[in-house]
Amino acid sequence: MASSSTSPLGLTGRRVAVYPGSFDPVTCGHLDIIRRAAKQFDHLIVAVLNNTSKKPLFSVEERKELLADVTKDLPNVTIDSFRDLLVHFMKSREAHVIVRGIRSVTDFEYEIQMASTNHQLDDDIETIFMMTNPKYSYLSSSIVKEIAMFHGNVQDLVPPEVQAALIAKFSE
Ligand code: ADP
Repeated sequence: MASSSTSPLGLTGRRVAVYPGSFDPVTCGHLDIIRRAAKQFDHLIVAVLNNTSKKPLFSVEERKELLADVTKDLPNVTIDSFRDLLVHFMKSREAHVIVRGIRSVTDFEYEIQMASTNHQLDDDIETIFMMTNPKYSYLSSSIVKEIAMFHGNVQDLVPPEVQAALIAKFSE
């Protein structure tokens, strides 16, 4: 009669979620989603998309290093990258949940298309949306790069490690 499971509901599976994106570079908006998502899952994999068609400012390795730096206090978060279909990456990591952030109606329209496509490719995969922190609803990596390119102050928009990397990049 008694179950040996540690969970009162008898649930044994670990809940692994993947937060995919370009993160070129990671902003305070991304970090807010990472922190909140990490509380909801046993394990969160932040996965940098290695997109060969875009010309990024930071290499995949640099983006991963920055992400690792700014999440080092979160023990259940790991950083990874992928260049193949997201659903293939999810399978290889035994993950079933995709986390995405929503800032606006424009984000929503794009995201619903991506979520439906991924679900169509693998119906075991669900996408979960987290609303942006209103403080960061206007914030994107592109805006940050534009400000930093002209030596504007990005102090409140990105973590200090990212600010230092942007300053270094644009003084090269
Ligand atoms: P993309 O995948 O379009 O290149 P990003 O890498 O910038 O986008 O973002 C990855 C995810 O983080 C997306 O779901 C995006 O909507 C979300 N995101 C980006 N900036 C913010 C923000 N300021 N607040 C909440 N979510 C965000």
